[in-house]
Amino acid sequence: MKENIRGFDVTTLGYSELKHQLLNDINEDKKSFIVAINPEKIMHGTKDQELKELLNSATYQIPDGHGIVVLSKRQGGNIKERVTGCDLFQQLCELAAKEGKKVFLYGAKPGVAEQTKSILEQRYSGLNVVGTLDGFVMDKTLIIDTINNAKPDFLFVALGSPAQEKWIKENMDQLDAHIFQGVGGSFDVVSGNIKRAPKWMQKMGLEWLHRVILEPKRVVRIIRLSLFLARGK
Ligand code: UDP
Repeated sequence: MKENIRGFDVTTLGYSELKHQLLNDINEDKKSFIVAINPEKIMHGTKDQELKELLNSATYQIPDGHGIVVLSKRQGGNIKERVTGCDLFQQLCELAAKEGKKVFLYGAKPGVAEQTKSILEQRYSGLNVVGTLDGFVMDKTLIIDTINNAKPDFLFVALGSPAQEKWIKENMDQLDAHIFQGVGGSFDVVSGNIKRAPKWMQKMGLEWLHRVILEPKRVVRIIRLSLFLARGK
């Protein structure tokens, strides 16, 4: 079920297997932690043992970046397709609507989680988003209490990486939720505040190029990452 890529665990499960598994986890009253793995996280985690352990300690590590599929192929692995954090998040909302499970959205700038809630509730009829909080609330107790009063099945955390992973790890035990997923900038994407690359670019593994066009200073990060990836296994 998991493959090791340069010291990092990554699940070989695709969207439908993951959804099936996550629904089971909820129904069996388990807590699960989903992290998205992309080459950038592998690069940072290689230099930061604590981050590496944190990522490896999650329940499911999804192959979020195209580079992960390439690395898996290079080592004769089984990961054939990306499972992006943003798409999984939306599919899980659809699943929650169908199965009568509750969703909580925590993170992003003030107003964005609320906007995301109304868009998702319009899109997936019956979806129950039981609460939202922006990612700039400072009162830790307020955050924990608000989530615990809402008792969500799915808690999506959009604080950026690795802040969201650290936050989930630190607070998971005291939170009354089942599935914890760090979703980065997904609320910004769903609410339309950030444009994702066109589908054809996503399919060709060219999301990075789209980001460079929108934000040219990212080119330095891309070059550093390419050098890291080129170093072989
Ligand atoms: N963010 C937040 N609180 C903070 C810092 C950032 O809620 O203190 C949010 C920010 O508004 C954005 C998300 O975290 O919605 C980070 O998105 P980004 O795409 O940078 O994350 P990545 O997936 O690249 O880690």
